[in-house]
Amino acid sequence: MARKPIIAGNWKLNCLKAEAEALAKGLVETVGTKSDVDVVLCPTFTSLDTVAKAICGTKIAMGAQDCYWQEKGAFTGEIAPSMLVDAGCKFCIIGHSERRQYFGETNETINKKAQALYAAGLTPIICVGETLQEREEGNMEKVITTQVRGCLAGLEAAKVAESVIAYEPVWAIGTGKTATKEQAQEVHALIRKTVADMFGDATAQAVRIQYGGSVKPDNAAELMAQPDIDGALVGGAALKADSFTAIINF
Ligand code: PEP
Repeated sequence: MARKPIIAGNWKLNCLKAEAEALAKGLVETVGTKSDVDVVLCPTFTSLDTVAKAICGTKIAMGAQDCYWQEKGAFTGEIAPSMLVDAGCKFCIIGHSERRQYFGETNETINKKAQALYAAGLTPIICVGETLQEREEGNMEKVITTQVRGCLAGLEAAKVAESVIAYEPVWAIGTGKTATKEQAQEVHALIRKTVADMFGDATAQAVRIQYGGSVKPDNAAELMAQPDIDGALVGGAALKADSFTAIINF
């Protein structure tokens, strides 16, 4: 089954509204009508409205960088999936390694967030990835399968099929060190096999798996050419319209 590539820009804690608007407008000019790749911009919560207006009427979609799993109530500081829909989001990143590392995100909370996103009609971008120590100690396979199984436990196969999983080796995020295409393909195949073991082949063949970790214009094409790599989650290189455009046009 041909899977349409999906390339998302994770803007992290960057861009005031004016900068977010300029970046989004720049991308509208370069890739606003692109239809062979799904393009997603993930600004901060405070720039969602600005970016939604900038991309209105184009092929570019918007995502958030996190959410909470409750719809309303006494949860100071949190954002509900329905609020993200209200702001114009179609996607939401969950389980990014920075959230796992600094904000106590676990496979269990990611699982709850995925269910809440499905209920609101949003598509989760579910991040998994091993640390350098885990890889060097020979535990990559165990870590990745545990994360995939934990994040996807009990979810509906049809929803998983429409979801996006991002493989982001923690040692490659923001470090300039990219996994080789062989290393990335090996883990993507492992993730797809784990999804197949949990939900069957049809679901595994449908789910899109992005690679993330120092993706740049000069390594995007070789990564994207791997059979189980269906796109990219891009941090640093997504903050400039020219480099993100070059990645999208891989
Ligand atoms: C990310 O944080 O999702 C990421 C992949 O960052 P970078 O591209 O900067 O490594």
